[in-house]
Amino acid sequence: MAYVDEVLEKVKAKNADQPEFIQAVTEVLNSLRPVVDANEAQYRKLAILERITEPDRQIMFRVPWLDDNGNVQVNRGFRVQFNNSIGPYKGGIRLHPSVNLSIIKFLGFEQVFKNSLTTLPIGGGKGGSDFDPKGKSDNEIMKFCQSFMTELSKYIGADTDVPAGDIGTGAREIGFMFGQYKRIRDLYEGVLTGKGLTYGGSLARTEATGYGLLYLTEEMVKCHGDKMEGKVVAISGSGNVAIYATQKAQQLGAKVVTVSDSTGWIYDEEGIDVELLKEVKEVKRARLTEYAAAKKSAQYFEKKNGEHGVWQYKVDIALPCATQNELDIEDAKMLVANGVKYVAEGANMPTTIEATEYFQANNVPFVGGKAANAGGVATSALEMSQNSERLSWSFEEVDSKLKGIMVGIYHAIDDAAKKYGMEGNYVAGANIAGFEKVVNAMIAQGVC
Ligand code: NDP
Repeated sequence: MAYVDEVLEKVKAKNADQPEFIQAVTEVLNSLRPVVDANEAQYRKLAILERITEPDRQIMFRVPWLDDNGNVQVNRGFRVQFNNSIGPYKGGIRLHPSVNLSIIKFLGFEQVFKNSLTTLPIGGGKGGSDFDPKGKSDNEIMKFCQSFMTELSKYIGADTDVPAGDIGTGAREIGFMFGQYKRIRDLYEGVLTGKGLTYGGSLARTEATGYGLLYLTEEMVKCHGDKMEGKVVAISGSGNVAIYATQKAQQLGAKVVTVSDSTGWIYDEEGIDVELLKEVKEVKRARLTEYAAAKKSAQYFEKKNGEHGVWQYKVDIALPCATQNELDIEDAKMLVANGVKYVAEGANMPTTIEATEYFQANNVPFVGGKAANAGGVATSALEMSQNSERLSWSFEEVDSKLKGIMVGIYHAIDDAAKKYGMEGNYVAGANIAGFEKVVNAMIAQGVC
C-alpha cells in the first residue's frame, strides 16, 4: 500500500470521531502524493507523515466564569500545539458554540502549512472554546476571557506559542486576554497578536486577512492576463475577513454584490457599502437586516434549511469568507454554470472537497485558504517582529510587506504545482510548498 494511504488509514482509525480533522488530513495528504512518492523510503523510515499528522500536544481545560446573574457557567477550552519545527506555535483562538477538538485540530494542522507558506518563522497551532460570545455583556466576555487565559497562560509565551484572533475573538477579547496574561505572568511581551494599537498591536493587522486575500487574487487574475477592474464579486460572511476583503476588492475596481451572516444574506446590485457594513457589524454588532433597512438597493434573504444563498448569482469571482464547509458541490455547480472565473478562500476550509474538485475539473483557478488567507497570520508575525524590537511600523510599511508576501505566496504555490507537473493546481502547490519547508526542518532536527 502507498505510504500516504497507509497513514490515512491510521489517522482515520485513531481519530474516527473527528470528521473535520480527517477531512483536512485527507485533502492535504492526497495532494502531497507526488512529493511523498518521490521521497517514500526516507519519509517512511523517519515516520514523517505519522509525525506531521499528530500534534505536539493538545491541551483541554475547564473554563468556569460567573455570568451577570451570578450563575457559574462552564465552557471547555482548547489549545492544540501542532508543530513548531520552523518557529513558535502561532494560530488563532476561535470562540463559537461549534468548537470541538476535531475543529481545533483541523485548523491547527492547516495552520502548519499556511504559516510555512508566509516564509516567516512561525509554527502551527490553534485554540478556542465552545463559548458563544453572542448576546453576552462586555462584563461576561471579560470574565470568560480572564478565566480562559488563567489556564492558557501556563502553556504560551512570546517564544513558545503566540495565539491570535479568529471567529468570535476580536480586539476586545484579545485585550481582555492580554490584560490577564500580563497580570498572571508579570510579563509585558508579544504573547498575543491582534492587540490594540496603544499596547503593541500592528497597524494593518485588522485589514490584513481580507486585504491579503485580494492581493493574492489580484496577482492570480493578472497572471491569467486579466484585470480586477469591473469584476463582479460574491463574498460570504460579514466579519473581519469579509469586511476588509470587500473594501480592498472595491479599491481595486471590482464590485462586491453579496455578504452574509449565520442567519441570512444580502444581495446589493449597486455594490456593498463598506462603511455601512462596518457600522452595522463592527459598531452596532447587529444583524444584516439593519444593513438592508438602511440601503434601498439591498435585498435581505433569511437562510432556510441551511442554504448558503450567496453563491447563486452571476459573478466573476467568489470569495468564501465565513466558515468551514459553506460552499458545497451544489453551490460550485451554480457558480460554474453562471460563469465564475476565479475562486479564492478567505475562510479556513469553506469549500468542500467535492466542490474544490468540481472547480478544478472545470478549469476555474482555485486557491485554498492556506495560501489565500495567510495574510492575517503573516501580519501577526510582523506584529511579533515589531514587539520584539519594541518599535511600530507605519501602515504603509506593514501593508507593503503584506502585499509582497501575498504576491510571493501566489508565485510559490504556482511554481510548486508546476515543479510536480500539476500546473494550475494551487491547492496541491500550497500544500507542497508549505510541507517541503516544514519537513526539511523536521529532518534536520532529528526524531522529536
Ligand atoms: P468573524 O467572527 O469576524 O466573522 C465570521 C463571519 O462568518 C460572520 O459573518 C459570521 O456570522 C459568519 N459565520 C460564522 N459561523 C458561521 C456558520 N456556522 N454559518 C454561517 N456563517 C457563519 O470571523 P473572521 O472574519 O475573523 O473569520 C472568518 C473565517 O476566516 C474563519 O474561517 C477564520 O478561521 C478565517 N480566518 C480568519 C483570519 C483573521 O485574521 N480574522 C485569518 C485567517 C483565516 P455571524 O455574525 O452571524 O456569526
